[in-house]
Amino acid sequence: MAVAHKRGGFGCPIIGQLALFEGGTLSHLSGLSASAKVPGMSPSSAFNPVFARQGTTIFTVMSALASEHKAVNLGQGFPDLDGPQSIRAAAAKVLMEGPNQYPPMPGMAELRRQLAAHAKRFYGLDYAWPDEVLVTSGGTEALTAAILGLTGPGDEVVLIEPAYDSYRPIAEAAGATVKTVTLAPPSFRLTYEMLASAVTPRTRLIMVNTPLNPIGRVFDAAEMAAIARALRESNAYAVCDEVYEHLTYDGRPHISLATLPGMRERAVRVGSAGKIFSLTGWKVGWLTGPRELISVIAKAHQFLTFTTSPALQLGVAHGLAHEMDTAVALAARLQDNRDLLAEGLAEIGFDVLPSEGTYFLTAGISGLTNEKDRAFCERLAREAGVALIPLSEFFSGPSRPDTYVRFAFCKQRAVIEEALSRLKAHFKHV
Ligand code: PMP
Ligand code: GLN
Repeated sequence: MAVAHKRGGFGCPIIGQLALFEGGTLSHLSGLSASAKVPGMSPSSAFNPVFARQGTTIFTVMSALASEHKAVNLGQGFPDLDGPQSIRAAAAKVLMEGPNQYPPMPGMAELRRQLAAHAKRFYGLDYAWPDEVLVTSGGTEALTAAILGLTGPGDEVVLIEPAYDSYRPIAEAAGATVKTVTLAPPSFRLTYEMLASAVTPRTRLIMVNTPLNPIGRVFDAAEMAAIARALRESNAYAVCDEVYEHLTYDGRPHISLATLPGMRERAVRVGSAGKIFSLTGWKVGWLTGPRELISVIAKAHQFLTFTTSPALQLGVAHGLAHEMDTAVALAARLQDNRDLLAEGLAEIGFDVLPSEGTYFLTAGISGLTNEKDRAFCERLAREAGVALIPLSEFFSGPSRPDTYVRFAFCKQRAVIEEALSRLKAHFKHV
């Protein structure tokens, strides 16, 4: 317990974050592609082209740069305070006393019961825990299993960009074709017309992420109705990435697509204990949805990870039963962080856009530099000691905006204050 608590603790907030990247450097990571150069090994064209052509994710790249330059890491989105002690204690007890063998493939009954109760309590949604709830190893695995289970060659998958990085490669690996809808700054609003232009008779899935990483949009009732209408007029299902469901600000509600008329049967919902309980390293996620969809997704899950650590599952079950007040209260603390960050950035000259939810805030950089976002972020990590994420990484295609950056504010106030003071000092001298 003591060890788990120490990392990233109060004592040394900034260095605490750097410790998370111990042992990882950019040269170590680029070694991932070096295998193709080893004599006797196959050229990369012999590998799965979807993965062979991937770079290292921007989150890893920027965390490595942060570590290398001792930068304050407002890039990769992870909290620097671990979630509730009682959840960690519950998991630790299971580690010591068991069970420690394979749990059931769909997840432990205790956790699935709590997840069904959570959907009912917060959204009025009824899911039968035995066959409409599936526990996965993180939201990432839930997304992967859902995409692999529901799509295949000849299908089209619609992404609303900016989009989380894992959706596209998994859809492509499934053999599907990706179509994109691009949200434009500064409002990043979604309309029915945008969706209608991307949806065809071949559309099998629309990926819906609200609250939306990276831009912090929370789709409102009109936008959710537009998605529901596009779905109703198609043969498509929705995979709803709701991992930030409890992180909305200024009293904005999170609307789960499944609560709209006819949508319960069309939508699978993805959640993550990492986000709800500030335990991102645990990688406990889940899916809730109609049994017809969950059943085929479970067929993918059984060959991806099959199951997830029993101690962590039971820790999360404890959290859902006893720590939801803490989880919900996190939004108020993060909203204060958002305001602190937004005010400081505006003073420096960033063009701060509204953040309605998530861990993240987006800001325009045109008033500060002529550089593109990625060059700006790399230079800032080196010269200002602050690591961010370039927004263009979440878009495909030539019309991607490239003068915006993403800041993570799921940090202690002292860390945000330190980042702001470094940025202020930097921009005073350039
Ligand atoms: N979806 C979004 C939008 C995310 O931001 C993240 C993680 N940051 C995930 C899915 C993955 O969640 P997990 O860490 O539980 O795999
Ligand atoms: N979701 C996190 C973010 O957006 C990163 C997760 C990851 O590193 N894969 O920052």
